[in-house]
Amino acid sequence: MQPCPYCERHFRNKQAVRAHMKHCPLKYSGNMTNMEKMFLRFLKLLPRMMQENGKVTKKDVMRYLKISEETLEDLKVWMRKTGYLEIIKFIKKAISMERSGRQV
Ligand SMILES: [Zn+2]
Repeated sequence: MQPCPYCERHFRNKQAVRAHMKHCPLKYSGNMTNMEKMFLRFLKLLPRMMQENGKVTKKDVMRYLKISEETLEDLKVWMRKTGYLEIIKFIKKAISMERSGRQV
């Protein structure tokens, strides 16, 4: 397994990593802050977290992003300030409504 140096996703070989890097979302994130990068990683992992656990807990996020509780709090504050938290809430709500069979 070969990791992408930008997003740390793993691929079966170097050729697969090269192909992925042509459009890796984190490759061109040089101007981004660490919070933005962390948020992108969170977004990328969200479908997987929801698939595995049905809902996402604080512990899941800490485990998947390999961050401490303090860092997670910082990320939450940042998400609230930027308005991204509203989007995440909307996505989570939409998914849980879809699961319970209702229309969104
Ligand atoms: Zn990548």
